[in-house]
Amino acid sequence: MSTTLVLFRQDLRLHDHPALIAAASRGSVVPVFIYDEEQAGDWHLGGASQWWLHESLKSLEASISALSGRLVLRRGNTISVLRSLQQESGADAIYFSRQYQPWSAPLETLINNEFHDLSVSIKRFPGTLLHEPGSVLTGSGTAFKVFTPFWRAANKQAVALPLSRPDVVWHTHKLASDDLADWQLQPEAQDGVPNWADGWQDLWQPGEEGAHHALSDFLEAPVAHYAEGRDVPSKRYTSRLSPHLKFGEISPRQIWSAAQQRKLSAPQWSAPIDKFLAEVGWREFCYQLLDLFNDMPAKPFKEQFAGFPWGNDSKHLSAWQRGQTGYPIVDAGMRELWHTGFMHNRVRMIVASFLTKHLLVHWIEGERWFWDCLLDADIASNACSWQWVAGSGADASPYFRIFNPIAQGQKFDSEGAYVRQWCPELSKLPKKYIHEPWEAPQMTLASADLELGTDYPFPIVDHKTARLGALDAYAVIKQAS
Ligand code: FAD
Repeated sequence: MSTTLVLFRQDLRLHDHPALIAAASRGSVVPVFIYDEEQAGDWHLGGASQWWLHESLKSLEASISALSGRLVLRRGNTISVLRSLQQESGADAIYFSRQYQPWSAPLETLINNEFHDLSVSIKRFPGTLLHEPGSVLTGSGTAFKVFTPFWRAANKQAVALPLSRPDVVWHTHKLASDDLADWQLQPEAQDGVPNWADGWQDLWQPGEEGAHHALSDFLEAPVAHYAEGRDVPSKRYTSRLSPHLKFGEISPRQIWSAAQQRKLSAPQWSAPIDKFLAEVGWREFCYQLLDLFNDMPAKPFKEQFAGFPWGNDSKHLSAWQRGQTGYPIVDAGMRELWHTGFMHNRVRMIVASFLTKHLLVHWIEGERWFWDCLLDADIASNACSWQWVAGSGADASPYFRIFNPIAQGQKFDSEGAYVRQWCPELSKLPKKYIHEPWEAPQMTLASADLELGTDYPFPIVDHKTARLGALDAYAVIKQAS
């Protein structure tokens, strides 16, 4: 009987998994996950993502063992581990889902080369995106650099229905497997600093089942409010599917298909459902841009930004990271990130604009911080979004569009509920001053039990001055180009 090693990567699910289905159809299957810390170089999984990976693997292990199989866990260099596993299991094929990170294609080539002469069949399968990079092109056959026409063209292509979980004959030989706990992926309290992941268990349900709960809960009702509600950070009107998508616990076509079904059962919600799918489309677009420009995580898409006069004041960066800038909506966002491993999209845009434009700190610093702190940290969406905000991206917000953190707070957190949740020291301030506490009269501050400079910082930069500074900095590269 033929045996196939199925190498799980960012596709930690058993349904709609073309590689697993193909492997199951040819004989027995050895499911494997290799924790290779070297593979991604500088972009090894951040702390928050490591927590999610642990939980997600626990869930996949449980699903496979409920079907009488066993997930083999190994740590080390992917090629060496695959070589040993192939010998130990006698597998004559290795199947995996294609991944699109800059380091994935070289790894896939290495796997091919390694097993070429051993008559081991190597196959890769789609499953991570709705549309493979290079499959949605302009009329002249080039990649789109602007989202709207990209998504219009993508929508003209059919999306296949998701596939069921196959019946798998698991390989029964006893192959050594690591104990997941030994990988120490979960953070711990250290030197009096509490464990930052405390409480995440109550907020998230990593794994395939959790992903489907998140999707069905969202489509059940919140999606009706998505179009306008998605910008209100104090409300739960978005899907929170991003970490599930990042680890492939759900495929985008499962989301696509469930959303189409929902349009049939609730036709009055078609517009917000399409808006939601367009955001899933942004994920596709980011991957397509990454495919076009592999250096996107480290270099500006628009070349003239290479000469941008960043300030990179480390005290400013640290105040931003700790949520101590003196701008409540920015600080609330940075604290939400720290406490939950997540930040609402509107607030991500506000904090990113503040870092790159008010503080003139390079977007790479923000990208790195997000990489470590976000449960959904994704190489394409993170780089693409940071460059979008900073103005250097392909389809970017123009640099001169500088978010006013006070006005943004007043517009999207009009009652101040979000700020009150994450900056409790401001919670007693009346709504009029919640986004600009420094404007509050002394008596108002006193009755809100708030002493500025002690309980909460004064703004680290003045909004108007910082805005002019950003425009001056931008003029430098505009003149040069
Ligand atoms: P929903 O609104 O429910 O959207 C559904 C799905 O669409 C999301 O799960 C996500 O996969 C995708 N999506 C939504 N918005 C975007 C977007 N703007 N770009 C790309 N995909 C999108 N998203 C990540 O998944 N990983 C990141 O590392 C990441 N970094 C970001 C950094 C910055 C500075 C900014 C401004 C945005 C970033 N985003 C990132 C995009 C976006 O903020 C999140 O995808 C979204 O907040 C996830 O919440 P949700 O699942 O409730 O989204």
